[in-house]
Amino acid sequence: MRIAALLAALVSVLAQAAATPGEELVLIRIQYTVDSTNPSRRNDWNAKGFGRVLCNVSEALNRATSVKAARDPKVLTLEDPGLFSYPFLFMTGHFGCRLNEGEVVNLREHLTKGGFLFAAACCGNESFTKAFEGEMKKVFPNKELKLLPPEHPVFHTFYTIEKAKCLFGASEASERIERPPLRGIDVDGRTVVILSPYALTCGWTRKATCIDSCKRVATEDAFKIGINVIIYALTH
Ligand SMILES: [Zn+2]
Repeated sequence: MRIAALLAALVSVLAQAAATPGEELVLIRIQYTVDSTNPSRRNDWNAKGFGRVLCNVSEALNRATSVKAARDPKVLTLEDPGLFSYPFLFMTGHFGCRLNEGEVVNLREHLTKGGFLFAAACCGNESFTKAFEGEMKKVFPNKELKLLPPEHPVFHTFYTIEKAKCLFGASEASERIERPPLRGIDVDGRTVVILSPYALTCGWTRKATCIDSCKRVATEDAFKIGINVIIYALTH
């Protein structure tokens, strides 16, 4: 209990240091060009439910920590001039993204000046992970998205996360307890991009089921990972 109280106090101090006093943290959902010639996939950056599931993350953050998060996340493109006012960016999808030169330049500048990008493959879809890796090569040509080791602070910032309940299929019958395979890019000793190849969005819907091919972290642990990544982003 004492450790939990201490941690909560620490997070409070650090979160206040990271945000302008009195202001709420606004989570940003990135609108991007979907990497597909199929017109029916054009809006995959905004597939059904992504806006709502990020609201659930804000709510979980407000409930569990002393970070004050705005209830409604905002949608921005990487070329929006207002981007630099927001430290925490999130993107997800099934098919992947294609960034233009302006988006690449802005994202690189934001990430090297204190911004943070969290990405998660919806339903654990490998097309998203592959495309995201490719686009990050444009942003940081000499960097790799490396598997984060268990001692990485993101697994310890608020919750201690050694293992997570992961589901591989429509129902909870496919449960496996694993270390979540988060991958990241470090710039000057700070991790500025984290990718989850397993879906978090599916867990954040708070529904127990998804599609047959879904690879996801189950709800409770998906929220814990989301909260840890946000706290890491605000304090590093
Ligand atoms: Zn899913």
